[in-house]
Amino acid sequence: MVNGVYINYYFHCKRHLWLFARNIRMEHNSEDVFIGKLISAYSFDRRRHEIQIVDDEDAIVMDFIDKNRKVVHEIKKSNKLEELHIWQVKYYLYVLEKKGIMGFKGLINYPKQKRAIKVELSDEDRTTIKEVIDDIHEIINSVKPPPVINKSYCKKCSYYEFCYC
Ligand code: SF4
Repeated sequence: MVNGVYINYYFHCKRHLWLFARNIRMEHNSEDVFIGKLISAYSFDRRRHEIQIVDDEDAIVMDFIDKNRKVVHEIKKSNKLEELHIWQVKYYLYVLEKKGIMGFKGLINYPKQKRAIKVELSDEDRTTIKEVIDDIHEIINSVKPPPVINKSYCKKCSYYEFCYC
């Protein structure tokens, strides 16, 4: 089964994806994750209607759906990893389409920056997401983790000590 977090980690770091999928958790050490959860929990307090879709193939938890405007909202703390967030929301739109829920668009909200970006799903995105899902299955079923990626953001990653010490 693939979920939105897997998609996010796939684009961030495939090793991170592998560790997470193996239930190796170190996130509780990360203040960033804690702050992110707080913002997600409180920013949209009044309109909060979290929607979950879970089956054998996919599991998504969308922060808020505006059914009238056909918009899926996702709330994020920082826009530093914007591309990852966009793919996460594209995956949500892809799963909705798989369930026959057509015509939705995405809106990623960055309350701290008072910014929002629109997300749409193209035919090219649909093809890419199918390939990504296949790749994710291959990674998480692999016996060995992918190599470390030596990026500057590794120092802020909850798995830093696990990877480099
Ligand atoms: S520390 Fe770097 S290589 Fe290790 S999981 Fe995190 S992002 Fe990936």
